Amino acid sequence: MGFLETEALVLRTYNLAEADKIVVCLTSASGLIRAVARGCRRLKNRFGAALEPFTLLNITCYQKENQELISLRQTEILKSNFSLAGNAETLTGLAYMGDLVIEFSPPYQSNDKLFRMVKACLNAIAQSPADQQAILRYFEIWLLKLEGFLPDIKRCAECHEIFDNSERVFIGSDLALRCRSCSQGMGQPLSNKLHTQLRATQKLAPYVFAQESRDIPAKIHREMAELTHQIIGRILEKQPRVRPTLQ
Ligand SMILES: [Zn+2]
Repeated sequence: MGFLETEALVLRTYNLAEADKIVVCLTSASGLIRAVARGCRRLKNRFGAALEPFTLLNITCYQKENQELISLRQTEILKSNFSLAGNAETLTGLAYMGDLVIEFSPPYQSNDKLFRMVKACLNAIAQSPADQQAILRYFEIWLLKLEGFLPDIKRCAECHEIFDNSERVFIGSDLALRCRSCSQGMGQPLSNKLHTQLRATQKLAPYVFAQESRDIPAKIHREMAELTHQIIGRILEKQPRVRPTLQ
């Protein structure tokens, strides 16, 4: 890796040895990285509040040859999300986002779209914490999409016809979406409203999506949460042993 300078979002930290921490970040240039912040637990250290989870930073890292760990050299805070830490529910939501990014992202693989999506969702939560649930659904759908796990929500997986707005769509046990005739009564039906919500995630920014979701009945919110929960559960159950793991 050598030298790396990039925008980064701190996802999680844990203690290493006496005075150091491992910092897990999603970066714009290198995807998910793990870096060691040496001396950051000493009273006087150069990192200050920069390593708080969900802080947006500019970081400079260095990896020496023959050394496994990347060393975090410099941090500059671009946006501290410290104000969000006061609300337990917000914190839980953010921790969930961080966990999923860590679960789904292969380390050291640049995915700038993912970085920008996570940043936009975080900003949307900061702007409107009450809309967190809708923003988390948006985040889940886009995470699945950007990591290549989201079924095609526009067309039937079998006949490739574009779904018509009034038509019932069915999700099969293979997680593919099919029209009524191709599904032959198999699979679980999605309500039209849920299908519309799924498509809205593809057209809108997270903040706008959340605002437009305020009038959606609670039942549809629940249906969407169950669906993403089901898809994520299936994928993580299938994938963990083959997924690239952090060193
Ligand atoms: Zn079809």
